[in-house]
Amino acid sequence: MVVLKTSRELKAMREAGRISARALKLAGEAVEPGVNTAEIDRIVHRYIQQQGATPSFLGYNGFPASACISVNHVVIHGIPKKSQVLREGDIVSIDIGAYYGGFHGDNAWTFACGDVSKQAQALLDATRESLFEGIRAAQPGNRIGDVGSAVQRYVEARGYSVVRDFVGHGVGAKLHEEPTVPNYGTPGRGVRLLPGMTIAIEPMINAGVHTVRTLSDGWSTVTTDGKLSAHFEHSVAITSDGPVILTLPD
Ligand code: MG
Repeated sequence: MVVLKTSRELKAMREAGRISARALKLAGEAVEPGVNTAEIDRIVHRYIQQQGATPSFLGYNGFPASACISVNHVVIHGIPKKSQVLREGDIVSIDIGAYYGGFHGDNAWTFACGDVSKQAQALLDATRESLFEGIRAAQPGNRIGDVGSAVQRYVEARGYSVVRDFVGHGVGAKLHEEPTVPNYGTPGRGVRLLPGMTIAIEPMINAGVHTVRTLSDGWSTVTTDGKLSAHFEHSVAITSDGPVILTLPD
C-alpha cells in the first residue's frame, strides 16, 4: 500500500531529510586521499546522533554501519572499513539515512576523491543529472514509469547502463515503503504519482554492463565487469505544485 503523507507529515520528513543531507555533506567533505571509510562512517554516526536522530541503516537487516560507502566498482551497500583507505582518483558513493520525528530521510551522493579521470567525472555528471531528470518527471498525475524512463533515457544516451537488481522506493515512517521506483521503465506505466507520496529516487548507473553481484560479506554489491558505478539519491515529495526535494541541507 502506498502511504500518502499530510502536509504536517511532509514538514516532519523535511526535518529528517535535512539531517540526512547535512550528514551526507559532512561525509563528502571528509572524502580525501588517505582517509579510511570507517572514519567517514564515524563522522556520519556522530553527527546524526548529535541531532537527536537515529542512523536509519545501522542494524537494518543487520547492516553494521551508519553509512554505506561504496568505492569505484562497488555499486551500493559497501561496508565502511578501517582497512579501506581512499586514494586519489577514487569515486566514493555514500548513502545515508536518518530517522527523526517518526520519519526517515534517505540520500546518496558519489564524491570524487581528489582528481578523478575524465571518464569517472563523466559518469558522475551523467548519474547526477539523471537523478534530476527523474525528479523533474515526478509530477503529480505522472506514473512511476515516467520517472524510470527519464533516468534510463538520459544515461543510456550517453552509453551507460542502469542497474536492474536494485531500485528506488517509497520512504516515510519506514525506510522502504511502496512503491518500488526502478531507474528504467516505460512512460505512462506503473503506479500513478499522487500529492502526498514520498519516494526515494536513486539511479545506480554503471559505466559498463548493468549486471551486479553481491560479495561474500553479504552486502557489498559490485559490477560484474569491474567497471565504475555511481549512485545519487534524493527523497522527494510529490505535491500539487510538483516534486519537492526533502533531502536538502538547508
Ligand atoms: Mg534508498
